[in-house]
Amino acid sequence: MALLVSIALFCRGIIGHSILYLFYQVDEYSRTNIPSIWAVGDVTNRINLTPVALMEGSCFSKTVFGGQPSKPDYRDVPCAVFCIPPLSVVGLTEEQAVEGAKGDVVIFTSSFNPMKNTISGRQEKTIMKLIVDAETDKVLGASMCGPDAAEIMQGIAIAMKCGATKAQFDSTVGIHPSAAEEFVTMRTETRRIAAGSKPKTNL
Ligand SMILES: Cc1cc2nc3c(=O)[nH]c(=O)nc-3n(C[C@H](O)[C@H](O)[C@H](O)COP(=O)(O)OP(=O)(O)OC[C@H]3O[C@@H](n4cnc5c(N)ncnc54)[C@H](O)[C@@H]3O)c2cc1C
Repeated sequence: MALLVSIALFCRGIIGHSILYLFYQVDEYSRTNIPSIWAVGDVTNRINLTPVALMEGSCFSKTVFGGQPSKPDYRDVPCAVFCIPPLSVVGLTEEQAVEGAKGDVVIFTSSFNPMKNTISGRQEKTIMKLIVDAETDKVLGASMCGPDAAEIMQGIAIAMKCGATKAQFDSTVGIHPSAAEEFVTMRTETRRIAAGSKPKTNL
């Protein structure tokens, strides 16, 4: 029965498909092409994360029941891979930044052994990166691999959502000793990518 319903919806264009599964095609408000059918979450295959499904659900409820048409905003959605060490990113990758920028893109990186490992002598590198639009000084992307990456990147995501510039990162006072303070003390450019050039990595 479920298969028959899926085939019927597919034929009416409500359901699209990727190689492995079917998903609902929706507009910016999460509405399918049948006005009374709405879909949010993984079934729409936009960004498949729990907080994104929540955002889509609250926008849907504001739009339909609250009288305030609301679209989910997919800019600067942070995410993490909870491996060891954890990895977390927000905003554009170097490749996306170079593709979209009108001018140069400046990359700042840092690689260090967190201070808390000094006594134990544990070798556990943390790496961080900031991607900055040279023309506007806006921070376009950030990434980190190392302990507490998800915790730290959640804060960076708030700053980026507020449109923070590199100068504002630099004028923020760090918390010492922490790994996070490295994000506000990256003073030296690692590399500068001219508009239209190839990025060094796609991360
Ligand atoms: C292994 C794994 C790890 C993940 N880790 C993270 C993470 O760390 N952080 C993060 O943000 N996201 C993570 N995700 C993604 C996250 O789980 C999903 O994005 C999120 O659950 C989407 O919510 P949803 O409500 O759209 O779908 P779901 O949570 O999948 O809910 C859909 C529900 O519909 C039910 N259902 C399905 N078909 C029918 C039917 N025919 N009739 C009635 N009920 C039905 C299902 O049983 C399910 O309960 C992970 C996903 C996986 C698979």
